[in-house]
Amino acid sequence: MSSPLAREWVGIQQFPPATQSKLHEILGKLKEENVSTLTILVMGKGGVGKSSTVNSIIGERVAAVSAFQSEGLRPMMCSRMRAGFTLNIIDTPGLVEGGYVNEQALEIIKQYLLNKTIDVLLYVDRLDAYRVDSLDRQVIRAITDSFGKGIWQRALVVLTHGQLSPPDGLNYDDFVAKRSDALLKYIRLGARLRKQEPQESCLPVVLVENSGRCKTNDSGEKILPDGTPWIPNLVKEITAVISNGSKPIVVDQKLIDGPNPNNRGKFFIPLILAFQYFFVVKRIQGAIKHDISKESKPLWELRDMGLADRKF
Ligand code: GDP
Ligand code: MG
Repeated sequence: MSSPLAREWVGIQQFPPATQSKLHEILGKLKEENVSTLTILVMGKGGVGKSSTVNSIIGERVAAVSAFQSEGLRPMMCSRMRAGFTLNIIDTPGLVEGGYVNEQALEIIKQYLLNKTIDVLLYVDRLDAYRVDSLDRQVIRAITDSFGKGIWQRALVVLTHGQLSPPDGLNYDDFVAKRSDALLKYIRLGARLRKQEPQESCLPVVLVENSGRCKTNDSGEKILPDGTPWIPNLVKEITAVISNGSKPIVVDQKLIDGPNPNNRGKFFIPLILAFQYFFVVKRIQGAIKHDISKESKPLWELRDMGLADRKF
């Protein structure tokens, strides 16, 4: 899906040369694999850093960033071209309002995505959130119900505010592991993934730091506390997802109209009913008949049937 509105990706020149060459290397690899377009959908609650992450990847201020809730309801797609490659990033408004998933916002996002193909979902949240709650589950469930379980095979968890100092003297890596585990557990619940399903275990968690105060290395690249230059790392993880053997999500009218794309098991309902009739209902009926035939009849019944001695 190449957009006619795609502009030259000039933002890439804003990155330090080390980052630029890594990004060009990744784009070159994609070209070898005949991938010429990449469409990334960015979703999550409000204020978690979705728009900031979009701006960080593009290297330009394309999405409005706000510390306060004033995102509006419309998604925004930004398209950039570089050496025959098109990058589309779709920023969306936060899905939560007044403690619930905003169905209207969700509907607008779905309509906006009609006839588009999503290659990757970035599910954004903050690293420095210490709890996951039912709201997270609601948002994850809303995404699952809108695009199907398969979207999680095409997803990455992006945790912003990567440059945090963990509370209570916790070690950074331990903190990241704890936060990731808690969130992945909720994704498994909200996405209705069974424990055995491999998606959850492969769902990559990537850290980012959008702040202008992000530390840099000697080459001027923005780095995480462990020294990883995070922009090329994020792009590399994104490209790993598209080559993991899963299918991109084609948003067609059927997907949008479908009450729930995960209701495929409905096919089995008549079979289950038939099974229940023959193996459960019939057996119970048989057992009842058997019991009745063995039951000693009360006197009044025998009398009504003319079998009892009337004098008695
Ligand atoms: P959105 O509502 O999810 O699109 O979130 P925004 O991108 O508008 O960000 C909300 C606020 O968090 C803004 O004030 C951003 O400057 C700030 N922010 C976003 N990402 C980061 C990050 O990685 N680190 C820090 N320190 N602040 C961030
Ligand atoms: Mg935003």
